[in-house]
Amino acid sequence: MNLILLGPPGAGKGTQAKRLQDKYGIAQVSTGDMLRAEVAAGTPIGREAKAVMEAGQLVSDDILVRMLGSRLEKADAAKGVILDGFPRTVPQAEALDRLLAGKGLKLDAVIELKVDDAALVDRISGRYTCAKCGAGYHDTFQKPARPGICDVCGSHEFTRRADDNRATVAARLEAYHRQTAPLLPYYRAKGALQTVDGMADIDEVTRQIDAILAHLG
Ligand code: AMP
Repeated sequence: MNLILLGPPGAGKGTQAKRLQDKYGIAQVSTGDMLRAEVAAGTPIGREAKAVMEAGQLVSDDILVRMLGSRLEKADAAKGVILDGFPRTVPQAEALDRLLAGKGLKLDAVIELKVDDAALVDRISGRYTCAKCGAGYHDTFQKPARPGICDVCGSHEFTRRADDNRATVAARLEAYHRQTAPLLPYYRAKGALQTVDGMADIDEVTRQIDAILAHLG
């Protein structure tokens, strides 16, 4: 099963992708996580991407398409992937069509997480993750049960993304509407687009996605 989760930053793509990965045993492929790993490792791609990401803009299609192409070669992608953050432009979507076709694979569904822009700034600017296991938290909406201690692994260390601040969020939303939203009609025209209510609570969004996947057959 190959899926795309589509939606603006803060829509909940990463949260839902992790749940789908656990439930269906298909790999979450987050291009944002891949780029952050390149930045942290100081690779040539990371050095090129860092300033672009901190400005809330999109890294070049060329880099992303090459990165995704090699990710799809890895063994864990054979059972299927949940694409989280890719494609983000029409040229990336076209390249994905070619990559999948070249492997004899197909896209099973594109699931849009629809959310109001107004909610996104608060969602994004409060979020942080456990530095050890990556579990996601939020200052207001999802605090750990014991303050300062990760519910999942007990770690006391947390990190915040450099681009999860109010100033950068506006640029990221602008990039979404200008460059990524055209993917909605692109996939609607292919009959692949399904929409869920990303404003609902996390479990309800998961239920809506499960219902869509149950009908894929
Ligand atoms: P994300 O973690 O998906 O919010 O991505 C964080 C940042 O990484 C984005 O704001 C972009 O700068 C960059 N990025 C991630 N995925 C892509 C992509 N498919 N195309 C271009 N830039 C990307």
